[in-house]
Amino acid sequence: MAILKVINYGDQVLRQDAEKVHKVSAKIKKLIADMFDTMYAYNGVGLAAPQVGVLKRVFVLDCSTEENPMPQMVFINPVIIKKEGAIVSREGCLSFPNVYTDVKRFEDVTVKYMDERGKTQVMTAEGGSLLCRAIQHELDHLNGILFVDHVMDRFGTDELLKTNNLPTIDPAMIKDEPELDQLLVG
Ligand code: ZN
Repeated sequence: MAILKVINYGDQVLRQDAEKVHKVSAKIKKLIADMFDTMYAYNGVGLAAPQVGVLKRVFVLDCSTEENPMPQMVFINPVIIKKEGAIVSREGCLSFPNVYTDVKRFEDVTVKYMDERGKTQVMTAEGGSLLCRAIQHELDHLNGILFVDHVMDRFGTDELLKTNNLPTIDPAMIKDEPELDQLLVG
């Protein structure tokens, strides 16, 4: 068990595609344990392997709150197979210390993934819940996508980024999301 270094925004590793995991090997199990240690050490809700410099399709979540205890969750090779509705969600990211901003997300998602025992699972998270938003946020990391790519207020967020000595938003990376835009105004 170890606390790993979390890579900050600006490092190109966060912009790369992660590779599929073929087997939940001892090495992957150790990575998962270390990712939980790291996530808790930084008081995070979720952490994706590229954030600790490992380009594998793995993320971990713990969306527990005092009112709503939930188990620790491990997602390997996740794929969103259904998405509906739109919401605006205030998010942060361990790779962006102290930066919180509103982003566009789907309200309901169904994700298919492999758990830490190598078993295929399907989970639906609804109502723009923390779990639902965290799944989308962490899965993006496996595709080199960051939460600021879904930003609502680009220039306001740039100010926050500058204050925290992070690079500003690359406008070329901002997602064109007509489906979400239409739902949000509609
Ligand atoms: Zn993140």
